[in-house]
Amino acid sequence: MADVYANLIGGEWVTSTAVSRNVNPSDLSDVVGEYAQADAAQTAAAIDAAASAFPAWAATSPQRRSDILDAAGSALLARKDELGRLLSREEGKTLPEGIGEVTRAAQIFKYFAGEALRLSGERLDSTRPGVDVEITREPLGVIGLITPWNFPSAIPAWKIAPALAYGNTVVMKPADAVPASSWAIAEILVQAGLPAGVFNLVMGRGSVVGEAIVSSPKINAISFTGSVATGRRIGARAFESGKKFQLEMGGKNPLVVLDDADLTVAVGAALNGAFFSTGQRCTASSRLVVTAGIHDRFVAALAEKMAALKVDHALKPGTDIGPVVSQDQLEQDLRYIAIAKDEGGRLVTGGERLTRETEGYYLSPALFADTTNDMRINREEVFGPVASVVRVRDYDEALAVANDTEFGLSSGICTTSLKHATHYKRHAQAGMVMVNLPTAGVDPHAPFGGRKGSSYGAREQGAYAREFYTTIKTAYVFG
Ligand code: NAD
Repeated sequence: MADVYANLIGGEWVTSTAVSRNVNPSDLSDVVGEYAQADAAQTAAAIDAAASAFPAWAATSPQRRSDILDAAGSALLARKDELGRLLSREEGKTLPEGIGEVTRAAQIFKYFAGEALRLSGERLDSTRPGVDVEITREPLGVIGLITPWNFPSAIPAWKIAPALAYGNTVVMKPADAVPASSWAIAEILVQAGLPAGVFNLVMGRGSVVGEAIVSSPKINAISFTGSVATGRRIGARAFESGKKFQLEMGGKNPLVVLDDADLTVAVGAALNGAFFSTGQRCTASSRLVVTAGIHDRFVAALAEKMAALKVDHALKPGTDIGPVVSQDQLEQDLRYIAIAKDEGGRLVTGGERLTRETEGYYLSPALFADTTNDMRINREEVFGPVASVVRVRDYDEALAVANDTEFGLSSGICTTSLKHATHYKRHAQAGMVMVNLPTAGVDPHAPFGGRKGSSYGAREQGAYAREFYTTIKTAYVFG
């Protein structure tokens, strides 16, 4: 029998008459769980609970907040194998990737346990005698968190932990496809001693639960990660209703490979960046911009490595790439593969629906060559195991092509030239730049976020997260 997951509202586990059922994308006969679908009234109750809990939580000592976050991190670590397995079953990434992600979520909770204690007031001398200028940070109030399906544990962690560390209360809506990992974090927070109402979990549809969060006047701020289309809609609504908001959205991240690159390093970066986690990363290296002198060798070597990748059940030992997350995503990937062919792209390898022992959404990683940067395959986010190569003359053209996109999340270059690496680092129009590394793969204590159409608002992760989750007060004191 499938596990049944309830919503967490004001410290109570609340069921619902409407229930959704999720299956494992590696094995459609494996039901991962049944989830109570919150309605607008339950979402409003969760928001009320968070608003009532806010004053006491904001006044709770930083040490207490820190202890709870630390205990949550320890619990996640202690359960990483079990929760990594659950994550793989609901999302389809491989078991090592699933365990790695839960470990990362634990590290994030522990990091913010430390941040909760790093009180960050400042005193300035005034221009006026006898006056002190004091700068303090305060929590925002009730924060609405809306998350995507591709990092079911890490993205919730990197929003929940700073929100709570700095004294905010939370109403969170996980993505419909992957609520179990967020539910596990909710359970762990309750067991860690978090007071009722401080963290509330409401599962359900974006058009119902998400809308209710975004439109509530009792929500003070929204942190959203997901697609550009949804993010822009949420941003406009949040702005109109005077909420603070941050949006982390899509990418079409270029990985430049120059003639002087170490071929092994470049192929490794492309293979990992474009296809690991089934290519379902906002930072995926989906556009490979390659100079003419290395182009043919690079494409041949990458195709050879791709053909050796084992695409299979995410829990099977030795699997390199699991299935894509859902039927909808599979159809989207196949649609883009057809579009790339129609546009004149040459399919070098992959792009085929695969059958395995268990019925799942298996797709062999696809590589297109002979594409130009104006093709849809190079302008729109596919969000699957599909990458395309654009051949360029030299470094200058490579940089121009890399920057010619509406996105600006991550941007990479493979080169042994310090001159080119330095120039690229300075001129790549992206929030994150990688040298001789995949465009995906970030540290949890470093600021995360992009430019242009990829992101809006303050950075996430690390100490920079406080720019979103706190507000500054400047006090002038005489006497
Ligand atoms: P999505 O935009 O479809 O959904 C994201 C979340 O928004 C889900 O929880 C969804 O239920 C909710 N939602 C949908 N409609 C809503 C509405 N009207 N009001 C409020 N909430 C609503 O995105 P997805 O398919 O879950 O995730 C994939 C996307 O996420 C990709 O574009 C990817 O690039 C992006 N992503 C970005 C980052 C980043 O940090 N930049 C990280 C991971 C994923």
